[in-house]
Amino acid sequence: MTANILLVEDEPAIQELISANLTRAGHTVVKASDAETAEKIIHEALPDLVLLDWMLPGISGVELARRMRSDERTRPIPIIMLTARSDESDKVAGLEVGADDYITKPFSPRELVARIKAVLRRRTPQATDDVVEFGGLRLDPATHRVNAGATLLNLGPTEFRLLHFLMTHPERVHSRAQLLDQVWGDHVFIEERTVDVHIRRLRSVLELTRHDHLVQTVRGSGYRISSEAPV
Ligand code: CA
Repeated sequence: MTANILLVEDEPAIQELISANLTRAGHTVVKASDAETAEKIIHEALPDLVLLDWMLPGISGVELARRMRSDERTRPIPIIMLTARSDESDKVAGLEVGADDYITKPFSPRELVARIKAVLRRRTPQATDDVVEFGGLRLDPATHRVNAGATLLNLGPTEFRLLHFLMTHPERVHSRAQLLDQVWGDHVFIEERTVDVHIRRLRSVLELTRHDHLVQTVRGSGYRISSEAPV
């Protein structure tokens, strides 16, 4: 499992320690020392998860979490709060603004990595390396392989990520903007019709084993993967 993690922490020694451990666990880490910098980074590209220190100079971690949850674009991003205080009321306040988890310093790097994995699995199953099966397709993120029965399908990297996202969120309709956010990481500089191009490529590969009917267009809304016959 690898994820793009935004680490917002103002203490350089802790920032370095966490960053080194997450990098060793296979994650890509982007660092910010305050909330303003974090917001700029999030504006450029959405991370898969934010590790957010509670006590920051200027805008607090809790306030940044609240802002992220009130913005539709950043609302789905998992947040883990870091705090030096073990006060139960802080924990409640952190979870109330929408944090997914809460870790009290000092914590072991191993615990942090495990908690990140648990949150990613819960919130963004496409960011874990669990094998996913749907409608006769089997996708293995660890080996980057997709099988339809015994047939190995040859997908490009974008089609692979697109299929991975759809298979981990089956039967739900996703707009083009949502797919751009979730699969491309950000929608700011990419046109929505790019999604249509990659859906078309994905379907043409799935056609080989007659699985293309799984990827359905929902008129006026977007796309979904479904084992039901298209409406
Ligand atoms: Ca701090």
